[in-house]
Amino acid sequence: MKIQHHGAVNGVTGSCHQLHIDKNNSILIDCGLFQGDENSDKKDIETSLAINFDISTVRALIITHCHIDHVGRIPYLLAAGFKGPIYATKATAALLPLVIEDALKVGVTRNKSIIKACLKLLKAQLVPLEYKSWQALELDTACSARNSVCPEPLKGNPVKAKIKLQIAGHILGSAYVEVELSNSPDFIKGKHRIVFSGDLGAPYTPLLPAPKSPYRADTLVIESTYGDKNHQHRKDRTKQLQNIIEKAVIDNGVVLIPAFSIGRTQELLYELEKIIHRQTNSIMWQNIDIIVDSPMAAKFTEQYNNFKDLWDAEAKREMKSGRHPLSFEQLYTVDSHKEHIQTIEYLAKSREFSKRKPAIVIAASGMCSGGRIVNYLKAFLNDKTTDILFVGYQAIGTLGRDIQKYGNKSNKAGYVFIDGKRLIIKAGVHTISGYSAHADQNGLINFVKRMRYKPQHIKIVHGDEEAKAILANKYQELLPNAKIEIAK
Ligand SMILES: [Zn+2]
Ligand SMILES: [Zn+2]
Repeated sequence: MKIQHHGAVNGVTGSCHQLHIDKNNSILIDCGLFQGDENSDKKDIETSLAINFDISTVRALIITHCHIDHVGRIPYLLAAGFKGPIYATKATAALLPLVIEDALKVGVTRNKSIIKACLKLLKAQLVPLEYKSWQALELDTACSARNSVCPEPLKGNPVKAKIKLQIAGHILGSAYVEVELSNSPDFIKGKHRIVFSGDLGAPYTPLLPAPKSPYRADTLVIESTYGDKNHQHRKDRTKQLQNIIEKAVIDNGVVLIPAFSIGRTQELLYELEKIIHRQTNSIMWQNIDIIVDSPMAAKFTEQYNNFKDLWDAEAKREMKSGRHPLSFEQLYTVDSHKEHIQTIEYLAKSREFSKRKPAIVIAASGMCSGGRIVNYLKAFLNDKTTDILFVGYQAIGTLGRDIQKYGNKSNKAGYVFIDGKRLIIKAGVHTISGYSAHADQNGLINFVKRMRYKPQHIKIVHGDEEAKAILANKYQELLPNAKIEIAK
């Protein structure tokens, strides 16, 4: 048994791990795209997209969740000839074709027949699984690895493998993966459990339940995005959101919230509905327009509504009491590009006549590195009645990070370049840090601490150098006899 990493080792993107079960059999966990600066590290776009490893022994692909940095290389895997099953939870299986279609359109091709062909393959190979139930994997025990010369036959009984998906609480459908290998004399008591964390969610995430630790892990491959930090103010972030919006709309300016269409947008809607529900005496809150300007977000919100059984207890209670946390009265969804332009014009014009209703616009992308939010920024960034509210991590080199950095200077206005044009930031700039969808250091430690049988071997992936190193020390303190390794 051996684990190889084809991504998420020098940073957080490009997740793709290969578990070699024996000489003839392996499985992949995730097949994600490299993004941002981690992409520019790769020599050229070709190498960053390519499946540059032998896939002849790969019997199955298991998807932890459908963020693009965990699924974006699937079209290339299919193009490389992978024909095995793609296992994912039911919700991930429902979201995945939408994500892949969008990724192909944005990054690869507008050719409809190529997109259609790729989606057809994907859907044919997708196998939706229930959470918490074992699925046996079909391995090649007769040694007929198609694309390679048959190695010597294995001695003894063939190894058996099965997988189970568990709630990860990161985004809708997200899972961590338990793999159990059995029947091999190499393992203590003949069994070995490997757990791949995927991305783990944090407690108090709106809408979704927190992850529970597995009963047993012999080997653990774990993310470390926040291995060096603990989240602050998670419990009072709703109040913070309310306060910032209340101050922002006093001058009737628009509030712009850049947010990724999957996950963050739905969390925000859930929080805003909660505020509106509580503020029955506030004319402002009862009148405010909440505009989601993203056709993708609308499709994802629909799936969040389809999978209400995956919501946490609080969200389910609200629904039972007759509320609709993700589809309430003051919510408007902008779909076509024409409507998008009209909405910007409407908001700009009503400003001139100062008869605008307060409005919050939620649009992608979450780091302003493209998407419809950019047009809103072009129209409203140099207006002092505007407020921009960041609720997610802004990576270095993105427009979002620049606005965060150069905006908000009380004495002189900073500026950014959008499409080559210099724009003065007159808008107010705010950041709320309590919305992270990742477990923090305590969460990552508790994930291990709460296992009944703890790992003898931990491989740390999916984090910056500092985060990985600090988390490794913490795990070593917790498990002095275990092998703690930063994956390479
Ligand atoms: Zn993720
Ligand atoms: Zn991730």
